Amino acid sequence: MNYNQLFINGKWTSPRKGNTFYSIDPSTEQVIAQVARAGLDDARLAVEAARAAFDNGSWCNLSGKQRAIFLRAFANEIRNRLAELSTLEVKDNGKPYAEAEWDVSDAAGCFEFYANLAESLDEHRETPLSLSDDRFECMIRKEPIGVACAIIPWNYPLLMAAWKVAPALAAGCTMILKPSEVTSLTAIELGRIADKIGLPCGVLNILTGYGHDIGSYLTDHPDIDKVAFTGSVPVGKQIMRSSAVNVKNISLELGGKSAFIIFDDSDIDAAVEWIMFGIFWNQGQVCSATSRVLVQEGIYPKLISRLVEESQKIHIGNGFEDGVKLGPLVNETQYKKVMAAVNQGVQDKVRLLIGGKRPNHLLQGYFIEPTIFVDVPENHPLWTDEIFGPVVSIRQFKSEHEAVKSANNSIFGLAGAVMSKDLACCHRVARQLRAGIVWINCSQPTFIEAPWGGCKQSGIGRELGIWGLENYLETKQITSYNAEKPWAWYIK
Ligand code: NAD
Repeated sequence: MNYNQLFINGKWTSPRKGNTFYSIDPSTEQVIAQVARAGLDDARLAVEAARAAFDNGSWCNLSGKQRAIFLRAFANEIRNRLAELSTLEVKDNGKPYAEAEWDVSDAAGCFEFYANLAESLDEHRETPLSLSDDRFECMIRKEPIGVACAIIPWNYPLLMAAWKVAPALAAGCTMILKPSEVTSLTAIELGRIADKIGLPCGVLNILTGYGHDIGSYLTDHPDIDKVAFTGSVPVGKQIMRSSAVNVKNISLELGGKSAFIIFDDSDIDAAVEWIMFGIFWNQGQVCSATSRVLVQEGIYPKLISRLVEESQKIHIGNGFEDGVKLGPLVNETQYKKVMAAVNQGVQDKVRLLIGGKRPNHLLQGYFIEPTIFVDVPENHPLWTDEIFGPVVSIRQFKSEHEAVKSANNSIFGLAGAVMSKDLACCHRVARQLRAGIVWINCSQPTFIEAPWGGCKQSGIGRELGIWGLENYLETKQITSYNAEKPWAWYIK
C-alpha cells in the first residue's frame, strides 16, 4: 500500500529526508505499509502552507454555507468508502470490524454535524450585545482562531481525526493533522479525500511521523495559533509547557481512570453488560473506559461470578473473524505495558480472577484475555493508573458516601458511571462525581451533540457539539461610541 507521501499544500510529496517507517497489523505482526516519516523541513512547509491558506482568506472568507459543502463532501466520501476505510482501520489498529465500521460512520456523521454548524455560524457570526451604557453599542463577533494543529492518538484513528478536522474547518481555521505514528493510514486517506473533493490548497495538511521528531516544532511554532491534542497525560504536559512559549491556545483530551458505581438494586445482567462494554470494547484502549468498578456489597459475589462467566465467553481473535469482540492491543509496546501492569498486580498478590495472559489458541498478535482483578487495594497502581487494556479492577463498597469518595479519589476526571434502579440516587451521585462525562445506567455511549472532555489531569476544554466548534473560534467585541455628545474627559 502506498502511504509514503505527506499531504502538504494540496500536493502529495515525499518527506524531504526520504525517511519512512512501517505500519504493523497487530493481529498478524506483519508489515502492512511503509509510511512517510515527516521531519522538520516537512513540518516547516506544512506550517507555511497552512499559514498562507489562512492569511490569503481562501478558506476563512468563504461563508459557512460554502465551507459546509466541503464538509458534506468529506462525509459522503467517507460513507462511500465505509468498507474500505473500516478494513484499513482493522488492519492498522486491530479492532473488530464491526467497531471499525461504527467509528468510520461516526466520522462521517461528525463531518455532517459540523457542516450544519458551519451554516448556522453564518447567522450567528455577529450578535449584538446590550450594554449598561446606552451611549455605546456592542457587537460580538466569532472569528476563526487561525492555523490549528491537531495531534491525535491511535485508539480511534479516523474518528479522532474527524473530531478535530471537522470543527476546525467549519470554524474557518486551516489545519495540520499529525496522526499517531502507530496508526497513520486512515489519516492519509482523509488527505486523499481532501484532494478528491478539491479542498483549497493548504487548508488541510497531513504529516505522518513521530511526535519526538516534529511534535515540539509544531507546538512551539509562532505561526500555529491553536494546538488541539488528544493523548497521554505526560505528552499533554509537555505540550502545555511547549505551547506556553507563545501563549498558544490549547485544548487537551488526556487519559482517565473512570469509576463505575453499581448499587445493590441493579439488574445483575445489565450491570455485567455495561461493565464489559465499559472495559472490553476497543480492547479497553478507551480514554473514558470505566476501568475501576465499585460494587455494593449485597450483590458483589453474584455480580462477580456472572461477570467472570460472561467475560470468558468473549470471542477473541483477528478483527475480521465473525463474532470477534476482542482483538489484539494496538502494538507490541502497548501489549508489554499492559502485561507489565498485570504482572505487577500478580506479584503484589492482588486477586486475579481470569485473564492476564495471551489466549492459548493465538500464537501471534498482541492479544490479551479479558482480565479481572477483584478486591484491589485503593492505593495499588491497578486502581490508580490508566492501563489502557482489557483489564478491570473491582472493589466493593457499603455506602453511597464511601463510593463517591472512592470514585473521586483520582488524579483523573474524565468520566464516571452509576447504576441503580433509584434514579434520584443516580442523579445525586452523578452531580457529585468530579468528571466531565457521567453515564447513568450505561457506560461509554458517546454522542456528537454532547460535550466531551475532562477535569483534573484528564485535560482542558471540551470537544464535540457546539463546544467543539468554540475550540476553534475567538470571540471579539466591537464596541462603538454612538452618542452625539462629546466624551469630554480631556477636552471640555
Ligand atoms: P501519546 O500521548 O503517546 O501520543 C499521542 C500523540 O502525540 C501521537 O500522535 C504522538 O506522536 C504525539 N506526540 C508524542 N510526543 C509528542 C511531543 N513531544 N509533542 C507533540 N506530540 C507528541 O498517546 P497515545 O499512546 O497515542 O494514546 C493513548 C493515550 O491517549 C491514553 O492516555 C488515552 O487516555 C488518551 N486518549 C484520550 C482521549 C480523550 O478524549 N480524553 C481519547 C483517546 C485517547
